[in-house]
Amino acid sequence: QEFCQQIPKVELHAHLNGSLSNKTIKKLLDRRRDLKISTAAFEKGEQRTMGDCFEMFKVIHSLVDSTEVIYEVTKDVIEEFSADGVKYLELRSTPKGLVESGMDKRRYMDAVVGAIRDYKHDNDDVIDVKFLPSIDRGRSIKDAQENLKLAEEYSISCEDIVTGIDFSGNPYTTDAAKFMPVLQGAQRVGLKSAVHLSEVKDRSDETRMFLSVPPDRIGHGTFLTDEEDVKSSVLESRIPIEVCVSSNIASNTSPPEHIKHHSVWWMGQEHPCVVCTDDKGVFSTGLSSEYFIIANALSLSEEQTLKLSESAIDFIFADENMKAKLKQIWKESKKDEV
Ligand code: 5GP
Repeated sequence: QEFCQQIPKVELHAHLNGSLSNKTIKKLLDRRRDLKISTAAFEKGEQRTMGDCFEMFKVIHSLVDSTEVIYEVTKDVIEEFSADGVKYLELRSTPKGLVESGMDKRRYMDAVVGAIRDYKHDNDDVIDVKFLPSIDRGRSIKDAQENLKLAEEYSISCEDIVTGIDFSGNPYTTDAAKFMPVLQGAQRVGLKSAVHLSEVKDRSDETRMFLSVPPDRIGHGTFLTDEEDVKSSVLESRIPIEVCVSSNIASNTSPPEHIKHHSVWWMGQEHPCVVCTDDKGVFSTGLSSEYFIIANALSLSEEQTLKLSESAIDFIFADENMKAKLKQIWKESKKDEV
């Protein structure tokens, strides 16, 4: 565990509001006693279903209701990842508007980008952070198109921070085909895409459709191996899979035994996989803990674990200069090991 803490790491699948720590949530709850929020879903621990997890997001969203709070929690989350040894972080979040606090989607974007810039400036460049605006499949196509437009605009005005999009939201919605033009549009304007895929059972048609775009990274991919043609096409494509073990177990989409997690099969095929947290707050985890779980499940040596964390650099949504900067950090850390 200590070794996993010490090594440099890359986090590529972290939803901003799902990453809020207990400390941050408690701070917000104390401030907003007037909301009389029920914390039942938080208290269920391991008994939580995926439905409970989405209930928790509703609670968190009612607390994160202004640009000031977005700015503050973004900095908190970056600080916590940095303290866990993360050197490069891609945060994803769904831009939201709220009439009551005067927050609109543009202000939401500005608050996240501002927090990223200020954190980097105030903390001597200890961590590099990008922002992927999310498209929520539980919302309308109009909402998705607005988010894509914002992502495109910010990828020009803040090209050092906004480099791609995320496609997420409740995976039980069945009309995801309507978002195909949005994913194709993102690709057309040069935005990278990380797409949640095969996260729940029996989504093979949807998976085939999204794979035809194709995405630049796959989120979860829990049931990709259910159909032979899907499995072979992903293997052939070499599209990296973002692996979130604790999240899958907590939301009951993977068996509780780590060794049975689907990523063990994919890594056995030497398919590119990146260890991630998903929602470190909601699932009470951290990136070091996720590395520890994978290293144990695969009986990896320290050297192999470090190699796994280094391999993530190849899949970041950033340019070659950033990759070279990160490779240098890993090189230095290998020197420290000997
Ligand atoms: P936010 O976008 O508000 O910063 O982060 C929370 C949102 O991320 C949730 O409302 C949901 O749309 C998305 N999200 C977080 N975790 C998951 C997950 O495991 N699967 C899917 N499909 N979406 C998720």
